[in-house]
Amino acid sequence: MSDQNSKPERRPIDPALYSPSKKGPIGKFFAPVAGFGVTISSMFRPVVTEEYPFKRTPTQPRFHGRHQLNRYADGLERCIGCELCAWACPADAIYVEAGTNTPDAQYSPGERFGVVYQINYLRCILCGLCIQACPTRALTMTNEFDDLVGETRESLIFDKQDLLAPMLDGMLAAPHPMVEGTDDDDYYRNEITGPTQAQIDWVAQRRPDDPTLKTARPVEEAAK
Ligand code: SF4
Ligand code: SF4
Repeated sequence: MSDQNSKPERRPIDPALYSPSKKGPIGKFFAPVAGFGVTISSMFRPVVTEEYPFKRTPTQPRFHGRHQLNRYADGLERCIGCELCAWACPADAIYVEAGTNTPDAQYSPGERFGVVYQINYLRCILCGLCIQACPTRALTMTNEFDDLVGETRESLIFDKQDLLAPMLDGMLAAPHPMVEGTDDDDYYRNEITGPTQAQIDWVAQRRPDDPTLKTARPVEEAAK
């Protein structure tokens, strides 16, 4: 039976670890500057340092950067507030609250849209699982990474307005009705190519100051 109070046996120390250097006179002479050998040899190697942010090196095409909430060609939002992205996120970085579209306030095709959409970049690990979970391709990732830094914690929680894709030339800002005679399946199949004159008239009646009225191009005109 072993004595539990006895101290464990120490391994003998290797004397070679503490023995004086066996360098010859030339080795001893150059020893103080030997470390500079690494420095001097590095001076003749190609420079790999990137001078960001003064000189930007393009990222790889599939780089995972800041997220973007996309729109359809007529300006309606693709997000339907289903929360699948939030459930897929391993870091619990996404928060979504859904709302119901009404005839007077239709933000996305179908019944539901995302009222609140937040991504917390203090948590996000840019893994991309959320964009794979999204059924409407509403959520994708850009190659941008500059704005993923901030001086406060609050500034790194991005809201829907921070994430929404910019309005492209010809689009009409939501809310507005869906293209006449279509349903959400037509939108999901990407059969919508732009706003119609009826949609533009609808917005003009209700929001005459909407800036996108000036640039919205009806599909009927674009097809000519
Ligand atoms: S990229 Fe990954 S960690 Fe970031 S929000 Fe999407 S699922 Fe979450
Ligand atoms: S981004 Fe996609 S997955 Fe997330 S709530 Fe919107 S539609 Fe659903």
